[in-house]
Amino acid sequence: MLEKVYQYIEDHKEMYLNWLVEICRQPSVAAQNRGINETVQLVEKYLHKVSFAVETLPTSGNPIVYGELDSGKEKTLTFYNHYDVQPEDPIDFWESPPFSPEIRDGKLFARGTADNKGTLLSRICAIHAYQQIYKELPINLKFIIEGEEEIGSPHLHEFTEKYPDKLSTDGCIWENGFKSTDGRLQITLGCKGMLYVELQAKGANVDLHSAKAAIITNPAWRLVWALSTLKNEQEEILIDGFYDRIQELTPAEKELTESIDYKEEEELEQLGLKHYLNNLTGFKLKEKLIFQPACTICGLESGYTDEGSKTVLPSVAKAKIDFRLVSEQDPEEILTLLRKHLDKHGFSDIEVIPLKGQHAAVTDLEDPLVRKVVSSAEKFFDKKPQVMRSQAGTGPMYTLCQKFGIPAVGFGVGHAGSQNHAPNENIYMDDFIEGIKFAALVIHEF
Ligand SMILES: [Zn+2]
Repeated sequence: MLEKVYQYIEDHKEMYLNWLVEICRQPSVAAQNRGINETVQLVEKYLHKVSFAVETLPTSGNPIVYGELDSGKEKTLTFYNHYDVQPEDPIDFWESPPFSPEIRDGKLFARGTADNKGTLLSRICAIHAYQQIYKELPINLKFIIEGEEEIGSPHLHEFTEKYPDKLSTDGCIWENGFKSTDGRLQITLGCKGMLYVELQAKGANVDLHSAKAAIITNPAWRLVWALSTLKNEQEEILIDGFYDRIQELTPAEKELTESIDYKEEEELEQLGLKHYLNNLTGFKLKEKLIFQPACTICGLESGYTDEGSKTVLPSVAKAKIDFRLVSEQDPEEILTLLRKHLDKHGFSDIEVIPLKGQHAAVTDLEDPLVRKVVSSAEKFFDKKPQVMRSQAGTGPMYTLCQKFGIPAVGFGVGHAGSQNHAPNENIYMDDFIEGIKFAALVIHEF
């Protein structure tokens, strides 16, 4: 039914690829506030190409580009994407400059190709191709494209509070996704939540000669002792009430998890490791990754860590901690429980500074949007899609969707070796072209 659209896409591969190259050439690093305005203008340009009414809405941070194509139809589908990317360092590990897109072995290498400029463009190109053949779209479409996803979407809630009308939709296609190691398209229906905090222990108000350590508190020790109460060596998080809001897996969720092809051996070899945490393997490993929370020390800082020795008693010690949350775990509540936990263990002196909070998100397996996307993928791809109950990662899906009862489904044009957030980020050009066709099909079917 979409043969003509597919043919148009085939015939204009080169053009669509050039669009992607243009947007990947433009740095847009939210963490460093680099290239934001230039990228916004490019995104506006491409939305105008497909006749969207575009508004660039300011927030306290980077603006959100909002686009609407009102076809006067009954149903509306929203695409959520982001135009910002991760910083490119460590730069020395890139085989070609991160913002000079380069094609090698059928892949396009550049920061942002996979996360998520490729997927963003695949959707715009799909709308473009559809319009060339049919003039009119079968549904109304919206784009919400933010510029701070890679720093935790700190201002997205301003948009949801200010513009409830712009939010309203029958379903949301989430930013990104990839093909798994066995070449199946992953369709994700949720993501984990997060509480990110900094813990700070303070000692004397200046660094001291470490001879004084005999009589003066060392904040590094205070911090280490406090950290050691959060989790035991069996990976159990020891904060009272931490696990209370986690639900059991349903039989359907178990089945989906069983069917995930997780290349354990390959990954372990790649990472130079002998085994996973607690020797996890098979179903238990996948369950832990997707359905269970985690508590991770992301960074530790105190005293002198440079070359040679310096006998110093540090005045401050800091740790960054990330809790990945699942089900109904609420970041605000976990923050309160963490504070209580530290107090109870005698660490009232340790300050907890919340840096990020995000509720976990889950869309109902039986939702019509889920069924449509899955059946479209079954029709389109040779291999059966892999439905993932949740990503192991975190995104603002709840803020934009589930909080308002909007179903959300994610898929995209990356692959298992896309190297998101890492050097040599890439996508297969074939996946990009295929992704354009598939996005056109989803729009058509929805
Ligand atoms: Zn990312």
